[in-house]
Amino acid sequence: MKTVKLFDQDSYLRRFDAKVLSCEGSGDIFKIILDKTCFFPEAGGQPSDTGSLNGAAVIDVQTEGDEIVHYSRSPFDAGETVSGEIDFDRRFAFMQNHSGEHIVSGIVHRLFGFQNVGFHLNEEFVTMDFDGILSKEQLEKVEYLANNAVWEDRKITAFYPSHEEIKNISFRQKSGIEGELRLVRIEGVDICACCAPHVASTGQIGIIKFLSSEKMRGGSRIYMKCGGYALKDYREKLDSVTKFQNEFSVKPDKVYEGFIAFKKTLDDLKYENLSLRKRLISLTADAITEKVAFVEGFSMPELQKLGDLLYKNTGVTHTVFSGDGDGHSLVICGEEKEVEELFSRAKQSLNLKGGGRNGLICCRVSAAKEDIIREFSK
Ligand SMILES: [Zn+2]
Repeated sequence: MKTVKLFDQDSYLRRFDAKVLSCEGSGDIFKIILDKTCFFPEAGGQPSDTGSLNGAAVIDVQTEGDEIVHYSRSPFDAGETVSGEIDFDRRFAFMQNHSGEHIVSGIVHRLFGFQNVGFHLNEEFVTMDFDGILSKEQLEKVEYLANNAVWEDRKITAFYPSHEEIKNISFRQKSGIEGELRLVRIEGVDICACCAPHVASTGQIGIIKFLSSEKMRGGSRIYMKCGGYALKDYREKLDSVTKFQNEFSVKPDKVYEGFIAFKKTLDDLKYENLSLRKRLISLTADAITEKVAFVEGFSMPELQKLGDLLYKNTGVTHTVFSGDGDGHSLVICGEEKEVEELFSRAKQSLNLKGGGRNGLICCRVSAAKEDIIREFSK
């Protein structure tokens, strides 16, 4: 490889000057190769760094063959010197979360013998897949021990062991990693093959928090946030809890109980409302004396019940309708043949939209109240 990996020598380096070795254009995207770079290319489940070269955005960085290729919309001249800068806040969050992942994977491996078989990091969270199922209690233990390792502020170093040294070092090897072996050692916690930049000591991770876990192909997938991601998550969740707490006047540790009490009140009110509506339908049916009637604030299902009740009580076909700003809901209910005749006649004159069968027709109509009464009173 022609490019010196500055991120490999110093994971905290954010600005650098480099010489452009080549720049090839394809459409409006240019592929730039430099003699050295701070940009970590996408690898092993971690996205590439973003940033700029001479102020022009670097939108992606990939390892292609033997080269690290920077993608930009701006072209550069081979031989010119460029100033590069990475988005270090984003990189530091990646370092916090990636180092957190090594601690967790090391502890899971030591305690339960499970291998990390999948790792994915993005701008929100980390997922880790293990080839064994971890119970809730086991996960709590791992999370606690992982945070202990953070509080102990253990040193993290990356190194390239010689062939001789490799024989004497026991380390976790993830599948799919090629090239020269680079090991990341977290003092007293873990040694693992890895090509990514890490924080210098575990204290810089801040906190390791599991969000959830699920069973995946006979193993477990863990969702996790470390450092800045975890702080943001805590802030957002606390904000939600505080809003609920203030709205419902409950203590912060009684939010769930507060919600259950609220839900019960709501269910009781729904039940009470249902009984009252039922009673209203019955009283309305008793009060209707004409075969066509307008009723205020009835839903379509309530109109159906009303029509049904009217026919049951009187044996006469009835038309009932209720309206809002957008028109009327209308139900014709009664003797089947008569209902069909009324519908086919009014369908033309009032432009009814709807249908039904067995003596019950439901439709929408935009005609005025008076026109509906006139039509169905014929
Ligand atoms: Zn790693």
